Amino acid sequence: MDVLEKLKAFSVNMPFEAAEDVHISSAQGGCQDSLTNLKETFPITHAHLPNGKTIPLLKTLQTSVCENDCNYCCFRSGRDTPRASLIPDELAGAIMKLSSAGIAKGVFLSSGIAGGGVRTQDRIIATAEILREKYHYQEYIHLKIMPGAEKDQVFRAMQLADRVSINLEAPNETSLTKLAPHKLHFEALLAPLRMIEDIRNHFPPHLAWGKAWPSSCTQFVVGAAGETDLDLLQTTDQLRTHMRIARAYYSKFSPVIDTPFEGLPPLNPWRQHRLYQAFFLLRDYRFDLEEIQFDLRGNLDLAKDPKLAWAEHNLLASPVEINRASFEQLLKVPGIGPISARKILSARRYGMIRDISILRKMGVPIGRASKFILLNGFAPAYQPGLFS
Ligand code: SF4
Repeated sequence: MDVLEKLKAFSVNMPFEAAEDVHISSAQGGCQDSLTNLKETFPITHAHLPNGKTIPLLKTLQTSVCENDCNYCCFRSGRDTPRASLIPDELAGAIMKLSSAGIAKGVFLSSGIAGGGVRTQDRIIATAEILREKYHYQEYIHLKIMPGAEKDQVFRAMQLADRVSINLEAPNETSLTKLAPHKLHFEALLAPLRMIEDIRNHFPPHLAWGKAWPSSCTQFVVGAAGETDLDLLQTTDQLRTHMRIARAYYSKFSPVIDTPFEGLPPLNPWRQHRLYQAFFLLRDYRFDLEEIQFDLRGNLDLAKDPKLAWAEHNLLASPVEINRASFEQLLKVPGIGPISARKILSARRYGMIRDISILRKMGVPIGRASKFILLNGFAPAYQPGLFS
């Protein structure tokens, strides 16, 4: 298998590795010689970066050999599957080739664990160093931090990357033991996230590539270990508050044959969707975890947007007066987000908002918002079909 074939195989076999907000494109064909054919056949992820840009991102591994035996993973040790490894020079050279051809304009680099977390991390860092220092690679790099990585390795990865992440996989020790019985303990997996925050707090950002410390994120595998939505969101909220993670990814569990979890059902995609909605309420809409409604088992209602559920419980009897509400109160109204809330606050400087059509012009979906608001003391007259 040549280097590009190995990269192709890695890219299509990373189902649990959520990196950025993504969708995957391109056919998966055999290896082609010409760059044109390569462009058409290479499996590339279109990633939405934190700065709003979308780039073709190569998701790849340093190696698919792994000494761990996570119960859901296609690369778990002992599973009979083709494996491949790339030394840092090979991988960096291939990334440059894809970059020069315009096929990938950024890379997400993870790895199976081979020879321990520290040695594996060294190889990931070496690849990134070759990219940045030998090839002067200016594109986006997301580096995975391996379980057990040392602080100087975390520091070096942060100097080279635009984003770093460590997969917690589960929201607590109990679920982690079910998913990955021989991975490190939950507290040990948290350690690199603590190191990242410590480095951000104690070292000046000009030491990093791009003169800013990278953002950090984590990932959970959802639906195989009995974890509840409350477990996931509680842990996420703690990480967001205390370790400033920019994002949590909730990867859908999907059974892989010849693993201990092959007989488990795949996750209902609505559960993933509701988790992301709740995450954004916590991160961008100033909701507290206590305001999000869970059922008695600690799960979100699959049939209802959690913001709508909150509003039906809290705002139907006391709607929000658009002309007096604070930014935080406006954000609680279904259909009003940070952008439209800011537009409402600016428009109010020029006079009272009395007409629902003004909100519509600001991009507020009136059908969603109208039950929960007042305009100058009156419920807006809303006729479905005319305004939304
Ligand atoms: S550490 Fe676990 S999830 Fe990661 S590659 Fe190895 S078996 Fe798969």
